[in-house]
Amino acid sequence: MEKTEAIKKLEGGEIKMYQLDDLFSSSDAVDIRREYLEKVNKIDLENISKYSLNMDKASQKNIENPIGAVQIPIGIAGPLKINGEYAKGEFYIPIATSEGALVASINRGCSVITLAKGVNTLIIDDKMTRAPVIRTESIQKSYEIKNWIENNFLKLKKIAETTTQHGKLIKVDPILIAGNYVYPRFNYSTGDSMGMNMVTIATEKALELLENETSGEVISLSGNACVDKKPSNINLIEGRGKSLIADILIPKEIVHNKLKTTAKSIEKVNTIKNLIGSAVSGSMGFNAHYANIIAGLFLATGQDVAHVVEGSLGITTAENRNGDLYFSVTIPDLPIATVGGGTSLETSEESLKILDCHGTGKVEKLAEIMAATVLGGELSLISALSSGHLAKAHKTHGRAK
Ligand code: NAP
Repeated sequence: MEKTEAIKKLEGGEIKMYQLDDLFSSSDAVDIRREYLEKVNKIDLENISKYSLNMDKASQKNIENPIGAVQIPIGIAGPLKINGEYAKGEFYIPIATSEGALVASINRGCSVITLAKGVNTLIIDDKMTRAPVIRTESIQKSYEIKNWIENNFLKLKKIAETTTQHGKLIKVDPILIAGNYVYPRFNYSTGDSMGMNMVTIATEKALELLENETSGEVISLSGNACVDKKPSNINLIEGRGKSLIADILIPKEIVHNKLKTTAKSIEKVNTIKNLIGSAVSGSMGFNAHYANIIAGLFLATGQDVAHVVEGSLGITTAENRNGDLYFSVTIPDLPIATVGGGTSLETSEESLKILDCHGTGKVEKLAEIMAATVLGGELSLISALSSGHLAKAHKTHGRAK
């Protein structure tokens, strides 16, 4: 079939967009879908048509009905000095964003951190969760299912792990009950992958055993207590993905000369804004803008951007220590990967290579770099607020002309 004929058939409803993949090469199917849209909408999609991604590869696991690619500029912040367990040394950080002033602000945080001999980072927990919902006949049966899961953990682990080489079931905890519904939270280590597909497949297999051996009825493989891609207190408290902490002590002179403020003022703004302001508004993000930094890093490195909502959870602390500034960030919920998902897209691979974080054995390093960058961005914004520089920076860098 010729391309023009395919467009006519799309117009006439004789074929569906997805059927083009069976009739043409992936790149031709991309062009036909886009040209069809241009024709029916009488618009030009010239910029969406320009991309270097291998659409044959992307079509197999990253995208359906592709018509091209969106472009988001990448800026570089750094060098950023990190004294982590896995990330050691100075790093240039790729940030993909359309928010003017963001890269400049993170860059300022990086330069202060590097001048102050680096940020310390630690991974304190690492697990990906899937929590199905199981219906029972009564509260008594719910309690029995909870006990059955606890008593049969090793059997569940064995069967779940038959589906994956890298996934390991660590625990099923907590097992939440709402009357006759049970929500067991399956926790896995997932190697270098983010793991959502992996743990979904593994948990489905484990539930076959549960349904065979108990009276429980699986209502849904995900019962929303996972909690995937939604803000939640359980993820803030229990953690999900990588759980990280990072801190730094910044000498008084650097706070004064570089951040143009004082440790006392930063402590005050952090307490009244990040802690009290978040409490008074019922916010789960006791921080200024983790989501900004995490979104920029996720877009650049091919993470699942919907998980920014989880990365936005966390707590910033600041203390005036005789004029020096102690500053920390706690990021309990950072689902990330260096293998699988969007990390194999060519642009993601290149960004990961800037960080020396592409492929196997690198995910912990990437996690620590992300935590360190979050601290840099957070420090810069809180400093700008405490010195009254925020509006000025946005006027210079971000305003529509
Ligand atoms: P994936 O790309 O589906 O799976 C990772 C794969 O990499 C596994 O097949 C694993 O094999 C293999 N692998 C090779 N080397 C590995 C290593 N060193 N460490 C870990 N795995 C390795 O990715 P995923 O991380 O499970 O899931 C991420 C995707 O899930 C994203 O595209 C995301 O958007 C999507 N997602 C899915 C859901 C859902 O509910 N299903 C929800 C949110 C997001 P083995 O398993 O054999 O070890």
